[in-house]
Amino acid sequence: MSVSQLARAIATSPTMKLNEEARLLRERGEPVIHLGIGEPKNKAPIPAILGAAAKLQTGDVKYSPSDGTPSLKKAIIRYTEENYDRIVGPENVIVSSGAKQSIFNLLYAILNPQDEVIILAPYWVSYPEMVKMVYGVPVIVTPEDGSFYPRMADIESAVTSYTKAIIINSPNNPSGVIFPDEFIAQIVEFCERKNIYCIMDDIYHKLVFDGRKPPSCFQFTKRSPETTKIIAINGIAKLYGMTGFRIGWAIAPRELVEIMTNIQGQTTSCASVLLQAAAEGALLGIQSIVENLRLHCQNNRDIVMAELSTMPGVKCTKPQGTFYCLPDFRAYLHPAVATNSVQLSEFLLKKAMVVTVPGKEFGFEGHLRLSYAGGVKDLQEGIARIKWAIDPTSPNDIFIGDKKLLRDWL
Ligand code: PMP
Repeated sequence: MSVSQLARAIATSPTMKLNEEARLLRERGEPVIHLGIGEPKNKAPIPAILGAAAKLQTGDVKYSPSDGTPSLKKAIIRYTEENYDRIVGPENVIVSSGAKQSIFNLLYAILNPQDEVIILAPYWVSYPEMVKMVYGVPVIVTPEDGSFYPRMADIESAVTSYTKAIIINSPNNPSGVIFPDEFIAQIVEFCERKNIYCIMDDIYHKLVFDGRKPPSCFQFTKRSPETTKIIAINGIAKLYGMTGFRIGWAIAPRELVEIMTNIQGQTTSCASVLLQAAAEGALLGIQSIVENLRLHCQNNRDIVMAELSTMPGVKCTKPQGTFYCLPDFRAYLHPAVATNSVQLSEFLLKKAMVVTVPGKEFGFEGHLRLSYAGGVKDLQEGIARIKWAIDPTSPNDIFIGDKKLLRDWL
């Protein structure tokens, strides 16, 4: 079939693909445990449902302005003031169909062909592909010491005259780490001095553990909303576990919002008014759901760390936020099992019916991303199955569903 070179070069979203594989296996009645998926299991908050239902009941479901309904934008302005101590106007806010679209529109708005975007490994799978989709060049910076913490010196040496933006995602998907304040302060100062956009993907900013305060990217700039180089991306997907509602937003200088609005106006027109009403309900409603979700994730983080510690070869940096961790499984790569993370992930799905995401997709080979957004039982059983499949010191039989399985490959 005739398709463009560019389209052909875009990789499938590995997480979306894994979700689909797991769904099909489940449909066939297989006892799959999903440690790949990046979504909590909670139901949408009641005020979100009521907001969407009320709008639906009016029957008046039309286009909204391309940059979002004025009332949702008002709620986002309030959220920004309360959580970031930052006063922005409606001209600084654009609502999109998910944070994913916000980031895409932003990249489309700022990149000329061949412009470079610095992406810090381990990174969210979609960043490099989105940069490529707008003819940009992703420049990956990987910490030399194998840690998940980027170093300013490495970033500085990757910057060229083509660098247009640096993407920062902290708390980080997939590692769960939070970058130190000093690092964020340095990066903001660097970007503003060098005239480079600093894209802060803050989608996990409230899912932070151990008494930490949600980090606020804006606290490190003295510049006004019109002159800052910081663009903040946020949304309701992770904040309220409302992944299917597809509402995200960007906070940016007016000029950029105008361009992004044109882009959106010519592609999707606007985000659905029903879903915008749901997002508004969630933002203005009682916020206890966020704290419940945070506590659930923190508790699960402790469980995942305890379970992984029973596999002495697995090294895992303790997450400080999100619902992911990125353990290093290199000690368990074995010709009878797998020699890289993609094979290991496939092996675990086939033998143990556990979905994981290969570290390679995040620029960290030898690792697997595990999501602990789900239930405790799944988490414990999932890791027990992984252990059975790859750790020769574990007992060599196990029950998976109602089948007793024997490990005969190690
Ligand atoms: N940024 C990061 C780091 C993410 O993990 C995700 C979702 N997995 C998104 C953005 C996209 O969020 P949304 O569902 O609102 O498009």
